Amino acid sequence: MLGLEMPEFAPGSVWLVGAGPGDPGLLSLHALHGLRAADIVVYDALVDSRVLKLARAGAVLEFAGKRGGKPSPRQRDISLRLVELAREGKRVLRLKGGDPFVFGRGGEEALTLAGARIPFRIVPGITSGIGGLAYAGIPVTHRDTNQSVTFVTGHGVTGDVPDGLDWEALARAAPTVVFYMALKHLDRIAQLLVAGGRDAATPAAIVSRASTPEQRVLETTLGTAARDAAAANFEPPALFVVGEVVRLRAGLDWLGAAQGRILDSNPLGLDGRGTAESA
Ligand code: SAH
Repeated sequence: MLGLEMPEFAPGSVWLVGAGPGDPGLLSLHALHGLRAADIVVYDALVDSRVLKLARAGAVLEFAGKRGGKPSPRQRDISLRLVELAREGKRVLRLKGGDPFVFGRGGEEALTLAGARIPFRIVPGITSGIGGLAYAGIPVTHRDTNQSVTFVTGHGVTGDVPDGLDWEALARAAPTVVFYMALKHLDRIAQLLVAGGRDAATPAAIVSRASTPEQRVLETTLGTAARDAAAANFEPPALFVVGEVVRLRAGLDWLGAAQGRILDSNPLGLDGRGTAESA
């Protein structure tokens, strides 16, 4: 493909592949090569149907997620299924939304494969918390606003707000926080950050179905996010991002610009010019 030497997808092996946030153009070349070679693709609910269409014509597509209110297969069962398929001598492509190692349980599946002595390869994907936000015109770092970015899951193992988090430290020391799986507990998450000392006026955004034709973006603040999201009927999958970087969207909403939005070259209102060229 493209004159590049690509790795062989050996029968009896598993590739754990990130499908990116939605737009098939965000797949890696390794992901595309794997899809063209796989005998079976075991995919999650978050994988975009346009990506599945890129699988080899004869490949079996097997769904391993939640559908129609039925409980999702247990993680252990999915891992064992991968082992079983590999032992049958198949080229097994395990396809996950975003990146398999970012809140994707790819590590757990790979550890099961390691334990069963099944050869595997990891194909990273563009995680929604970076690539999805880029489709909303929100960079996760920007020199004038933040020197770090923090990715947080909005669900703990039990489905509640994660209890292992130091919310005060997040509120105080994490200038940009990107929450995955945040919609269910948005209210509580925002309250915990404000209680931890973060200004309720901090810019925030909710981005649902990023990089798909159904992408929606809501610009709000930490204090008003939960109310605004409910009023606008936002639905998962969605990201919640808190921090000054959200202001940059006024200048970087490239999708909006294609539909006529006038971009502001100085969205942070810096003196003199849009970016501080040298400090
Ligand atoms: N491995 C995935 C994350 C899986 S957790 C990744 O790297 O992106 C599932 C969460 O990912 C969702 O609840 C949502 O917060 C986020 N997500 C995945 N795809 C998304 C998309 N297209 N738009 C917005 N959020 C998305």
